[in-house]
Amino acid sequence: MSDCLDGSCLELKRKRVEEAKENPVYRELLEVFSRLIDLTESAIDRVRPDLKPVVLTPYVEEKFREGLPLVDRKNFPVPEKKFELLMDIFLKGLMGIGDSVDRDLHILIDKRLDGRLRGRQFIEQFVMGSHAFLGSVFEIPDINNHLLFLVLRNIFKICLIPFQDTLTEELAIGWESGKCPVCGFPPDMGVLRGEGGKLYLHCAICGHEWRFKRMTCAYCGQELQKELRYLEVEGDGIHRIHLCHLCKRYLKIVDERNLPESMPLFLDLEELITHHLDIIAEQQGYIPGIQMDALAKDHGQNVSGLL
Ligand SMILES: [Zn+2]
Ligand SMILES: [Zn+2]
Repeated sequence: MSDCLDGSCLELKRKRVEEAKENPVYRELLEVFSRLIDLTESAIDRVRPDLKPVVLTPYVEEKFREGLPLVDRKNFPVPEKKFELLMDIFLKGLMGIGDSVDRDLHILIDKRLDGRLRGRQFIEQFVMGSHAFLGSVFEIPDINNHLLFLVLRNIFKICLIPFQDTLTEELAIGWESGKCPVCGFPPDMGVLRGEGGKLYLHCAICGHEWRFKRMTCAYCGQELQKELRYLEVEGDGIHRIHLCHLCKRYLKIVDERNLPESMPLFLDLEELITHHLDIIAEQQGYIPGIQMDALAKDHGQNVSGLL
């Protein structure tokens, strides 16, 4: 399972975004989010002929069973030309939402023109979480990291569609890692689903969902019960936060069993509109699970929380 990208599902998602906009705190962010839904839909149509199916060789399958994700991070399957085209589509397509977004987009476009946000090197360094490089991009004071992250995530999501399609349920059985079996990135959200509340994690980049052991830290993998706890939010039967004392990271969780039946769940959207949970966890001294160590150490920023 993964974030939906087909027409009927995107239609439902648009409806859910409109409902969420009732909270004025998220209105502008959700304008960006819903524009990204439209742009993603048309961008998929434009690049679909280039999205070649992935052939699962015995070697790749063997490596997968040993715990390596389908996508090789060193050869991240986002060709430079396609990346440039999609960057253009997204950055230009987001124009007109409002003055502050337009201002940020102009800065990002300028950074592309001066070469910082361009090309194979940018993709590789971003995907590998390269310390110095990410610092040099994300420490630019006037850059809107949130916007950039949302755009990059949508580009990667489109390019990874063939890999999503390749990961069958049968192949996924036995995947025990806290990292995404498709692209190898950590999760940004979790969901409790079905009888007994099985835990599924949601990839911060490609949106894939996979089953994970419930009483284990998704980030450091430790299973000591005394080091793990969860926080419930008063008056909120739907969300909770899993905390790990050992690595000091937290994971936001939605209990799908307590959602009204008529309310579809989109975890990429849910991640954006649950910022109050980030504040609670961070006030208690925990850091977002997706935070890249490099950024955390040197720049006090994180990729998801660039938001
Ligand atoms: Zn992924
Ligand atoms: Zn941990």
